[in-house]
Parts: sequence; structure tokens; C-alpha cells
Amino acid sequence: MAGIYVHVPFCKSKCTYCDFASYPREKDKAELYFACLYKEAKARANQYAGMNFDTVYVGGGTPSFVDEKLVTGALKQIKEKFSVSENAEITVEINPGTLTENKLSAYRAAGVNRYSLGLQSADDAMLVKLNRIHTVADYVEAAKMLEGENFNADALIGLFDQTVKDVENTLSVIIGSGASHVSVYALRPEEGTPIFSNYLNGDLPDEDAVADLYAFAAEYLEKRGFYRYEVSNFAKKGCESRHNLNYWQRGEYVGLGVAASSHVKNRRFTNTAVIDEYIKCILSGHFAEISSEEISGDEIRSEYVMLALRTAAGIDLAEFEKLFGKPFEKQFEKQLETQGRYMEFTGGRVRIKPEYLFVQNSVIINFI
Ligand code: SF4
Repeated sequence: MAGIYVHVPFCKSKCTYCDFASYPREKDKAELYFACLYKEAKARANQYAGMNFDTVYVGGGTPSFVDEKLVTGALKQIKEKFSVSENAEITVEINPGTLTENKLSAYRAAGVNRYSLGLQSADDAMLVKLNRIHTVADYVEAAKMLEGENFNADALIGLFDQTVKDVENTLSVIIGSGASHVSVYALRPEEGTPIFSNYLNGDLPDEDAVADLYAFAAEYLEKRGFYRYEVSNFAKKGCESRHNLNYWQRGEYVGLGVAASSHVKNRRFTNTAVIDEYIKCILSGHFAEISSEEISGDEIRSEYVMLALRTAAGIDLAEFEKLFGKPFEKQFEKQLETQGRYMEFTGGRVRIKPEYLFVQNSVIINFI
């Protein structure tokens, strides 16, 4: 089973830390953009006829910022053109402050059964500093509308002067709002974003402080029934994101829209991040790919290890041997001499010990 990702690159304004393909001043292109998405969906469905899809994820940008008919129209097209399973997980990202009862009813009618709400912080002053468009009260209101639904909430750590108390407050608001899944992301200031200069000025917590906040968040969530199944993701049992699990299991997915990436038949490819370029390509009957790479041999193994070690479940040793012809311990004998202390072999699997998951990159790099 594979996944479909749809990118909606429109936002009301740009958050100070954002380096995603999201464009605050382009909303007037939304209708044309979605017309192109429909066209791209049709062409990709023809190209990959025979593939079955188990998840659809509408992300952004802010999908809930545009007219709901555009989003539900995209879902309709996808269901018509691709083979999407009956019980597919269908997620839409929501920015608090943009959800209305009408939008929600339209999403439900279109088969959406999972939502992802971006709270980031339960401190209104911090939200202003980050140039988020919503308040904490907006989040609470949106979560109330989603009562009884399966939804995720995002929290950011590593923010200005953030303390354990601040993180606790954010997570407590999220848990109290009925979320079944929490993504806790550590802020990584990217060059070119406004927050990067704050980072250079030393206004943000250093790596050790972020690691402590993260350790606190993990413990806090785990004590309250949210188990960590991936570095940044915590869920109540049975509420894991099937769409994201597919990424980490090196599954196949088709990405539609600006900056969307795909992985099909050991080929990874990405669309242009420029809206006008995307529209021009699609309208002229071409795909809008700007990069494409065939993955083979050792690269497949590296990807497999890199992605699986991000998850709490780690690597299935029998599956690894079946796929790559050699037991994991033999394949990585040398690496295990230095990295073995960060890992544990248990129940036929190998994984990074939970206390080292936050710094998994420095362990994983040795295996790829
Ligand atoms: S809402 Fe998300 S995609 Fe839009 S600007 Fe903020 S972080 Fe970026």
C-alpha cells in the first residue's frame, strides 16, 4: 500500500521559522493551482495505474486557508482517479483560526478522517513572536469543533526563553483538547528565515537546553498515555499516522503539487517549488519535476536503515537479512563496535535506545 501527498502552498502570512513552500501573497492563484493539481493527479494516476493507496495527506502551507471546495474537489479527483482503499487514512492540515463548521462538514463529507492542527505553543506572546496567525483560544475552539475526531497537534520546542514550564503548558493544552497524536518538533532555524538571525544572535536555547526540553516532553507525554513511535511523534495506541509510518518504512508515495516529493519504484523525484513554474509545466502537459534520482544497491539499504532507525520499533532483523542478504550484525560489525552502546537488540529487532532517539542523527550517520 502506498500514500498520496497533496501540497497546498497558500498561507495567510509567513511564520518567522518557516522554510516550507508556502506563499502568503499568492492566494489569488488558488483556483488555477487546484485545476493543475487535478490535471497532475489524472496524469500520475494513469502513470501508476495498478498501485493501491492506503493514505492521502493534504498538507502545506495551510490547506484550511483556501476554499474548502478546492480541497474536497482534490480529494474527489484523487478518489476517482487513483485506487484508494475504502478505509484509507485521509488527513488534512489545519491552522487554528481558519477552521469553520462549514469547512469541517465539507471535509467530513469528502471522507477526511484525520486532522493535524498546528498549535506550536500555548503562549499567545510566543505565537505573536513567531508570526502565527492564531491565538491559543483559536486552537481550543478548533479542537472543540474536532471533538470525537482523530487529530494531531504540533508543538515546537527550542523557542525563545522556553522553559520546561512552557513546554508543560503547551502539552497540557494539547492533551486537554482531546488530541490523539502529538508531534513535538525541535525548531531548526534555517538560513533565510527571519528566525535565523535570532539564532545567530544567541536568542534561542542551545542544543543541550533543547535536548533537556525534549526529554521532558517525551516523559510528560509517555506518562499520559502517548507512546513515542518515532523521534518526534507520540500517539495513543492505534492512533499512529499511517501516512508517516509509510515514509519511515520506505514505502511508496506519490506527491502532487508544488515542492511535493515522490518515491515510486525506487525512484525519488520532486516538483518545482515555484508556483508559476509548476502551473506552466502542468498546463503545457508536462510534469513539474525538477529532480529525479534512481535509488539502487547500497543506497536502498542506507535509506532503509536511516528511516527505520528513526522509529521506536527500529529494524526487523529477519526482514533486513531477507532484503539485503546478510544479518544486520554482520553487515555493520564495525559500526556496532562504536555505536552499539546507543542501540538495543530486543525481540528480533534493533533500535536506538529511547534516551538517544533525540540525537539519532549522530548514530545513524555511521550506518549510511
Ligand atoms: S502556517 Fe505552516 S506553512 Fe504556513 S507559514 Fe506558518 S509554518 Fe509555514
